[in-house]
Amino acid sequence: MSDRPDRTTVATELAATAPTAAASATATAAGAAAAATAGPRLLAGSPIAAEIRAGLVTDFAAFKERWGYVPTLAIVLVGADAPSAVYLQQILRTCEKVGVQGRLVEIGSDATADALCNEIERLNADPAVAGIIVQMPLPAGIPLRTVIDSIDPAKDIDGIHPRNAGLLSLGYDGFLPATAQASVEILKRSGIEIAGKRVVVVGRSNVVGKPAALLLLREHGTVSLLHSKTRDLGRHTRDAEILVVAAGKAGLITGAMLSPGVVVVDVGINVVPDGQGAERLVGDVDFESAKGVVSAITPVPGGVGPLTNALLLTHLLRAATDQAERGAAASAGGAPAAKGASR
Ligand code: NAD
Repeated sequence: MSDRPDRTTVATELAATAPTAAASATATAAGAAAAATAGPRLLAGSPIAAEIRAGLVTDFAAFKERWGYVPTLAIVLVGADAPSAVYLQQILRTCEKVGVQGRLVEIGSDATADALCNEIERLNADPAVAGIIVQMPLPAGIPLRTVIDSIDPAKDIDGIHPRNAGLLSLGYDGFLPATAQASVEILKRSGIEIAGKRVVVVGRSNVVGKPAALLLLREHGTVSLLHSKTRDLGRHTRDAEILVVAAGKAGLITGAMLSPGVVVVDVGINVVPDGQGAERLVGDVDFESAKGVVSAITPVPGGVGPLTNALLLTHLLRAATDQAERGAAASAGGAPAAKGASR
């Protein structure tokens, strides 16, 4: 999961480029022809994220005023994974911007699963820590399930614990995986109707594709979930009125695999050579061939990524508030605080 910083604004570059002949040929409907000349609508996440962050500044200040402390987000990084480190620096910067304490907990790549779980237990028990995220992927040899299970569900602000995943699948309120939520939120906040639409999601990971499909179902989309074993991907993607792609494969979806006028959320973040000896970020959708076909599309970078971090911190606010209120109720009633209700 990464929205790496400060490369060229790919969205702007791509929006300025003329559509390809191949893409234009596919775009037969009148709406798509208009899109081919004007370019698609870009669904930018950054302005939405900025709006959410502005609200969080006020809300975290009010939290501090009411409860007398600044909540901490603990980020556990196992091993020195460079892309993860860059991504984590971004979250830490976002924490600073909204008035939250970010704490990076670095653990050596030779750590055992026990050592990692003990560290997580310490964070579970730390009353200042309101939320915990564990950066993925973990080094080979550390069982993911054991680590996920060790996170207190009340502090699991990226919704990876089975309790939160179960709540999502039942349609109840838990902590949502922030990227999946961002992919749906960007549609809703851009005024795109989901109810009744044919919605296709590519990718079925527990952190993005699967929860995104469940959230889109919650919004009354008619949802299909595609994955690496799906035969003839294009047959399914061409059926989509809304397409969410989270496969981690640069250029997987081309214009020929899209129907005219489709709305595309591109969650993928891939680093590819830019042809001039450097690298650039691209999504899973081949923007060049898609832009003459789609009616709207999220840019990469600048689409889903920025929104993910902002939403994560809204979860932190909720976790901190729940814990503070439960702690206060427990103190008032003399009952022991529930797990995670540390104050
Ligand atoms: P993952 O590797 O865990 O899962 C990828 C999924 O895509 C799998 O379910 C697989 O079945 C499917 N897939 C792979 N190749 C396919 C193919 N050829 N056809 C159909 N399906 C295929 O990845 P993930 O963690 O879900 O992340 C997906 C992408 O989203 C990555 O590019 C990742 O960097 C990006 N991501 C972005 C953010 C963000 O904030 N924008 C956050 C997390 C992940």
